[in-house]
Amino acid sequence: MPNNKDYNRVSVLVVGAGPAGLATAIQLRTTKPEIDVCVVEKSADLGNHNLSGAVLEAEPLHTLLDSAAPGWQDTDAAKEVLASKIDKDDIMFLLGKKLAFNIFFAIKLAEIFRLGFGQMIHKGDYSVSISKLTKWMGRIAKDLGAEVLTGFAAEDIILDESSNKATGVKLVDQGLDKEGNKQPNYVEGEIINADFVVLAEGCDGLLTEKFIEKANLQRQSPQLYSVGVKELIKVSPEQYNKFTSGRVVHAMGYPIWRPVIGPGMFGGGIVYAGVQDHLSVGMIVGADWKYCDFNVQDALTNFKNHRFVKQFIDGGTVVEAGAKMIPEGGYYAIPREPETGSIGKGNVMILGDSAGFVNMLKIKGLHNAINSGMQAAKAIAETFNNGQQAASRYTELIDRSKVAEEMKSAKNFRQTVAKFGPLQGMPLSVFGGLLPEFKIEKDYEAMTVARYRLKPNHNFDKDTFTAVAATEHREEEPSHLTILDADICRTKCTPVFDSPCIAFCPAGVYETIGDEVKSANPSNCLHCKTCQRKCPFDNIRWTVPEGSGGPRYKRM
Ligand code: SF4
Ligand code: SF4
Repeated sequence: MPNNKDYNRVSVLVVGAGPAGLATAIQLRTTKPEIDVCVVEKSADLGNHNLSGAVLEAEPLHTLLDSAAPGWQDTDAAKEVLASKIDKDDIMFLLGKKLAFNIFFAIKLAEIFRLGFGQMIHKGDYSVSISKLTKWMGRIAKDLGAEVLTGFAAEDIILDESSNKATGVKLVDQGLDKEGNKQPNYVEGEIINADFVVLAEGCDGLLTEKFIEKANLQRQSPQLYSVGVKELIKVSPEQYNKFTSGRVVHAMGYPIWRPVIGPGMFGGGIVYAGVQDHLSVGMIVGADWKYCDFNVQDALTNFKNHRFVKQFIDGGTVVEAGAKMIPEGGYYAIPREPETGSIGKGNVMILGDSAGFVNMLKIKGLHNAINSGMQAAKAIAETFNNGQQAASRYTELIDRSKVAEEMKSAKNFRQTVAKFGPLQGMPLSVFGGLLPEFKIEKDYEAMTVARYRLKPNHNFDKDTFTAVAATEHREEEPSHLTILDADICRTKCTPVFDSPCIAFCPAGVYETIGDEVKSANPSNCLHCKTCQRKCPFDNIRWTVPEGSGGPRYKRM
């Protein structure tokens, strides 16, 4: 550990230096500076593993920083991170490869009649780089005295059954070779003991899911995911001016809703103005897609080639790229303790995307992540002498906050779309809370033998994609991706589905070697976790690699 300080015992341990965890650290150090807070983060530097669109609804951030860092709005960092205030908000319906209709008026009508879709309108929001936002928040947390340690991956949460509480977190061992043997530089992963553990790892957090299992938390409905891929493209000044700064575009329809003939997919494309001739272009697709040869990058290629999008990016250069999953299951997929309904248990709280606080009607969760971080800080401060009450107090605070209000307003949305498909499900979802709770399958169970009919002529260039994501892992470390049963691949999956992991992994990690599917290139992994949630036989396990491995996003 750095600085020769003793980090083996802290009051509050936050796992994950994203907006949620850093909001906890900032709020706690502001209101209770006597409480020590340590944040551990697996990426090499702050923001390296954070990827989002991202549209930021600013109110929670403003509330947090107004008390933590008065005058923050005048700082250079604030001006850089919040440089793009949204002043044009287009919602397009794409029909085929060429036609595009602006349906903003329909969303505006929904807003006037207080229908759920009205929440899609982005009033006063910012278009931000979440990597930069995270880095900035991390600096503020450090300035306030929180210890924010990057390059430290956590692999397990330790529960003490006698006291029914979490006592700490174990970090990953460093210096093993591919076979798991200790090398001369071997360092055993330390245990950080803590009075409170805050799980803020983002979507499908490794520790969070372990904790949910160990503490027997339950979800009323399975978590659903989507997979998002994004590119940051440097375009010409003329193209940027034509798009206009301060503009965001969300697009539905082509190429995923009903690609020629075949099952529709939920999701859509985005084009957001960044700063200085940069546009963010992305595609997000619900991971319950049915095509065994589908790859979200193919849909991104089609989207970029649509006439409406192409005019803004043709000839541009992809300067950064990446992928991640988004939790979409909503209110019914929040993990809770069955007896109490707590989002966590005892002295452990689950925040942000790890809890699934994404409002799918807004297609946003960043503001909820920050808000949940603030509620966790309040809960810790109030229960400091009785830590076992922290999760229940946190849940009470969440239930009274806008986080719960929003999550309830969108509670049936994604399940309705999953049940009926986007063409029928989206209109049906306006009935919101009047609809019953539909039983849905897990994403990986949706796979069929159907083929995506809009495959681009050329295979997506995954090598370049991972190169601009700047991902790397130590070549000699054990693979963090395990195929549990090679026989299932050989006898059940490959003959029927043609090994979907080879297609859907955005980093080209999986390959057929001889007659066996292997995680051949784990060092390319982008930590998106898609493989763990989309292998049709639930045959892949993602474990956390050594700290500092993974992508190195700077402007995602
Ligand atoms: Fe199929 Fe999963 Fe095996 Fe890949 S790992 S071949 S998706 S069973
Ligand atoms: Fe994502 Fe899995 Fe591929 Fe890594 S190996 S990039 S987690 S799909």
